[in-house]
Amino acid sequence: MDNLTAEDYLNQQTALEEEAKELMPWDPKTCTYSIGPLKQQVYACLTHDNIGICYSCSIRCHTSCEIVELFTKRHFTCDCGTEKDKRIDSKSSNSKCEIRQNKECDIAAVDNIYGHNFQGLFCDCSKEYDPESPSVMIQCIMGLACGEDWYHDHCIMGYTDEELKDVARKSEDDKSENSPDGFPSLESFDSFICWKCVSRYNYYFQKIMSNELANDIISCTIDHDKSSHFINEHGKREKIDSDIQFSIFLKEDYGNGLEKLKDSITDHKDKLYIFLTELVPFLIKDEDLYEPPTEEDDSILDIISKSLSSSMTTSDIVLGTTALNKLQSKLKEFLKPFAEKGEVVKEEDISSFFHSSN
Ligand SMILES: [Zn+2]
Ligand SMILES: [Zn+2]
Ligand SMILES: [Zn+2]
Ligand SMILES: [Zn+2]
Ligand SMILES: [Zn+2]
Repeated sequence: MDNLTAEDYLNQQTALEEEAKELMPWDPKTCTYSIGPLKQQVYACLTHDNIGICYSCSIRCHTSCEIVELFTKRHFTCDCGTEKDKRIDSKSSNSKCEIRQNKECDIAAVDNIYGHNFQGLFCDCSKEYDPESPSVMIQCIMGLACGEDWYHDHCIMGYTDEELKDVARKSEDDKSENSPDGFPSLESFDSFICWKCVSRYNYYFQKIMSNELANDIISCTIDHDKSSHFINEHGKREKIDSDIQFSIFLKEDYGNGLEKLKDSITDHKDKLYIFLTELVPFLIKDEDLYEPPTEEDDSILDIISKSLSSSMTTSDIVLGTTALNKLQSKLKEFLKPFAEKGEVVKEEDISSFFHSSN
């Protein structure tokens, strides 16, 4: 702080605000626990037993925890402030969830599914997410066997990690699509069902693939076996290679296709009919994705002041206990003359500003 000009300071503030807005596009006001199981953005807290928490709780309640973004999970209930949440509340109020303000731990949902994503690991290879990797990662839309896991393109094709360096990729320079040779192009399919889920429900998928509506539903299948790399364009698989596990790539309008297929089954005790209506109704019509309310402009500053107060150790500056959103414009006014003259703002200037504002 000592050697910061006012301009630096203001620029830093603006950059911080912009960064915060990008990271937190929604207003973290609502915990989804009370809404019940939802398809929503889920965050795993590695600090607290790998529980899954909602967007708002990841910002407000588990502020200094190690958080992994899991993207969306279906039918998930927030664990924050439940008996699963072993967070020790250091604040004087003993509410369990900062947002819900519950004094007693709430009952944790029994039907949350926790795969290894909640340990920060993804794919069959159990790796942490690497934003630098050239691999495309795809989430399994079915998820009943894999917990809606995310997979590397090369892992879908059965390449082990050691073989990865030898994997021929379609293009070295096109960052948007750099999948291994033989991997379906990203425009050619809408969704993906992993080989684990296909294998577990093999009976049903065989029925779907041999149905005349298969062409409306399935874009292609791809073997989870690097030695075969077999891609079947229309999902009509022969039974001869039933030993080899394979993934299914679904066409854009697969939901309608599956619905037609379902409607064509007149016997409602038919196993495939029950499968489609009871086990995977979300493949016909997906659950709506819950979106937290969008950010109102001033509350973002409140969040910034909170994160500043938890990360800042410069005790002379009373940013922590003051609501920055109220002070922001006053602070800008105060700093303007410094900025115009190009003068250095000293810690005591800022400090006196905050003291005079209280
Ligand atoms: Zn929550
Ligand atoms: Zn935590
Ligand atoms: Zn919470
Ligand atoms: Zn992988
Ligand atoms: Zn799966």
